[in-house]
Amino acid sequence: MVEKRSVTHRINRRAFVAGTSAALAMGMLESEAPSQTGGTSAVKLAIEGGEKAVTRSPGSGMRWGDRELKQLQEMLQQSSLFYWNGPQTALLKKRFQEVCPLKYVQTCSSGTAAIHIAVASAGIGLGDEVITSPITDIGTVIGIIYQQAVPVFADLGPGTYNLDPTDVERRITPRTKAIIAVHLTGNPCDMDRLKDIAKRHNLVLIEDCCQAWGAKYRGRPIGTIGDFACFSLQDSKHVTCGDGGIVATSDERFGPNIQRFGDKGYDRTRGLGLEVFATNYRMSEPQAAVAAAQLTRLEEVASRRYQLGTLLGELLADVPGIIPHQVHPDDRPVYWFYMFRIKPEALRCNRSQFTRALQAEGVQASGGYIAKPLYKEPVFQNHAFFAGRWPVKEMGLTTMDFTKHRCPEAEAILETCIRVPIKEFMDEEYIRQVGAAIRKVARYYSA
Ligand SMILES: *Cc1c(COP(=O)(O)O)cnc(C)c1O
Repeated sequence: MVEKRSVTHRINRRAFVAGTSAALAMGMLESEAPSQTGGTSAVKLAIEGGEKAVTRSPGSGMRWGDRELKQLQEMLQQSSLFYWNGPQTALLKKRFQEVCPLKYVQTCSSGTAAIHIAVASAGIGLGDEVITSPITDIGTVIGIIYQQAVPVFADLGPGTYNLDPTDVERRITPRTKAIIAVHLTGNPCDMDRLKDIAKRHNLVLIEDCCQAWGAKYRGRPIGTIGDFACFSLQDSKHVTCGDGGIVATSDERFGPNIQRFGDKGYDRTRGLGLEVFATNYRMSEPQAAVAAAQLTRLEEVASRRYQLGTLLGELLADVPGIIPHQVHPDDRPVYWFYMFRIKPEALRCNRSQFTRALQAEGVQASGGYIAKPLYKEPVFQNHAFFAGRWPVKEMGLTTMDFTKHRCPEAEAILETCIRVPIKEFMDEEYIRQVGAAIRKVARYYSA
């Protein structure tokens, strides 16, 4: 099955590259032709009064409709809206397992909750260190800190924006218990190397798949390589029920724990007493109904975004002065957004000028992603997690000082990156225009 899928994938990709090289050539003709004929108006930047490179609409559409309505109507026939033994929750779990085949699945209230449940179920606690990415949603580290463990931020690959395995290994100490690999923008991390490191150092490997619904790592479903898969169903993600999450594992050491860590410590299968301390992260049946219906749309959303993001990547491959989003040819990244970097030393402009020029061309570009690496946020700089204090530090269980923490590549990424949205409603012609706009602006500013 996996074999077959990867063959199809390769064929698709080859056809794809062939299709886009023609587009590339066209894009080059478009911007080179005017100078050959002596004209300048066509290459004049829109920000300086020239013509916009993007004339097409990014498209729009509704992400939900009849399928969600039907599922909600079925849900309203039920006498209980509680998750346990709920048919909507059962349907959501079944559909989730078709996307991410893991044995134990717990629905929950958010991606943050999913990761907290994973961390708690893995037995991570007081003073334990968890290595993760400094460029991610804060939800990746909330659960670590609530379990009184210590997030240790490792540096990132300059083009993948994902954990650099060499730097991860460098930051391992005797207290390290886990790695949380964040598949940023839906681009899979280097899971072979991270798994190898986890194995050699006896660490739990948690996959933060919140931005990676439908992604594939070397043909395998995202979330199935590490020990835990954590997904978000928050509104901005590929599929959603407004807010929600799913945590899953096939590990017999942890699997039987995830239900009670998501449900106030109540063990609803074995009927045990309150043996663990946990909070209420339950997802209700109305949310599960919407999420179950949404999962029927996932493959279309994921494959479309993969196709459009890959096209943009091909269009930017030889553009001067920028670093395209680095993805592995045998993976299926699902482009929660597309992010490239500018090389300031190769351009006669800074990021904000580049971004403003792109916006004037009609590209929905925005400079930067999160404001700063997480460790630079005030709550980290002040070590002020619990009423202004951090018990594990006061108790001498960690020497972590976030004011001295450094991830130079992550800092450079946030200073030089530009984000371009990828949505399933866009068409290839629109993406070609976006690619042409980036090429036009980059060429203009190239030294
Ligand atoms: C969205 C997101 C989360 C948190 O998910 P919520 O459902 O918003 O709590 C965690 N990690 C990443 C990478 C995310 O994008």
